[in-house]
Amino acid sequence: MSKIKKKVKVIKIDVDKCNGCKACEVICSAFHATPKYSSSNPARSRIRIIRDPLKDIFVPVYAGEYTPAECMGRDVYKMDGKEYEECAFCRAACPSRDIFKEPDSGLPLKCDMCEDDPPQEKPLCVQWCLNDALTYEEREEEVDEEEKVGDIEIGLESLINKYGLDKVKDTVARLGNK
Ligand code: SF4
Ligand code: SF4
Repeated sequence: MSKIKKKVKVIKIDVDKCNGCKACEVICSAFHATPKYSSSNPARSRIRIIRDPLKDIFVPVYAGEYTPAECMGRDVYKMDGKEYEECAFCRAACPSRDIFKEPDSGLPLKCDMCEDDPPQEKPLCVQWCLNDALTYEEREEEVDEEEKVGDIEIGLESLINKYGLDKVKDTVARLGNK
């Protein structure tokens, strides 16, 4: 099987440096607004800050993969004496909660590393984080060519399973017309 080079983009999160300013949420939602930068709504952001200001705890969490079914187990984190909501730090757009879903369409949100048009050299949340809580690195990895195509197919299949082919087609057509 032939190998191709794949660029891997990494955002490192230093939780200790995050002060909960939410600048990352503001710029992410503005960049993904239609038209671009026309509005800013953290509910549309692909990064969310889980906050506990009284304990000075702010944890940036990035929107990851969509999952069509809730998982059987639950994660509960306890930090600095406080127990956080079930699944508080999970990255998945999942049927069990509203986070990482587009408020109007309900379609799942996923961090695209700001590759949307026009693609950004460095993720905007990193650029806007003045506390250096978010830092960016790139590296190259060799992957099987088939593996890369497979990623796209799995993503589409799970969207269609959840929302039905017609809704996904309508949403894609609507976005294409904007
Ligand atoms: S990398 Fe871009 S898309 Fe991802 S959370 Fe940051 S601003 Fe949003
Ligand atoms: S911009 Fe940086 S410091 Fe501000 S909330 Fe986001 S990650 Fe935290």
